[in-house]
Amino acid sequence: MAVASHPSAETEGPAAFFRAQQAAFAATLGAHAATADLLDRIWMQAFSSYEHNVAEQAKDLPPLACRKGCGTCCAIQVAATAPEVMMVARYMRSMAQGFRKVGIDLAARLAATPAAEPGTSGTMALGRECPFVVDGICVIYPVRPLACRGHVSFDADACIAALEGEADDVPVSESHRTVRALVQGALQSALRDAGRPWALYDLVEALRLALARPDSEAAFAAGEDFLAGAVISHVTAAEMARTFDALKA
Ligand code: SF4
Repeated sequence: MAVASHPSAETEGPAAFFRAQQAAFAATLGAHAATADLLDRIWMQAFSSYEHNVAEQAKDLPPLACRKGCGTCCAIQVAATAPEVMMVARYMRSMAQGFRKVGIDLAARLAATPAAEPGTSGTMALGRECPFVVDGICVIYPVRPLACRGHVSFDADACIAALEGEADDVPVSESHRTVRALVQGALQSALRDAGRPWALYDLVEALRLALARPDSEAAFAAGEDFLAGAVISHVTAAEMARTFDALKA
């Protein structure tokens, strides 16, 4: 599957990049609406654009504190779009047997994870460790959502202090955060314009719903919003729609 060239946030500026990225997603949603690989295409487009643009934007940043084996920030509520949720669900289904052989039961870990406390969205004091962090390592790393990729710290000690509720001002990379927000927002906006579910969902709750539906990918292809019970509500649909419309204007 060929990966399209990507709009550049560095050369175009944020609003123009958003519009170009939204148009690129809209083209994919339009051209492949009835094809079996729509999900693969839209997911690959989002992640390759994010990685491409972060590589451009972050080349002059100071050293990052993030390293393999540090899962300190993996207690933040992960907000994901429907395509991201669907790809994690697919990964869980396909990898379940292999993980069980090494003592990791992904479905059981997901089932044992409590619901997010209201009002803790986006904070490291969420108090709910992600079910996919095992010994500090993300076991769904190849398909981790944009929210995880876009949360990058310059100070590991500040992350630990935030996790313990002692600080809330972790120095994070604004470059990563901005690119993530623009790509994710453009994807939501294109999904909205295409009449497909476009909300942000709590990853844990959405996966519970997706895995309960053996036909979840067919339901996604048909535009059915079967993840509605997992919508994150701290930003309303009306607010997001206003933002997207303003950026498109
Ligand atoms: S999905 Fe992976 S990177 Fe994201 S919070 Fe969970 S363990 Fe961390």
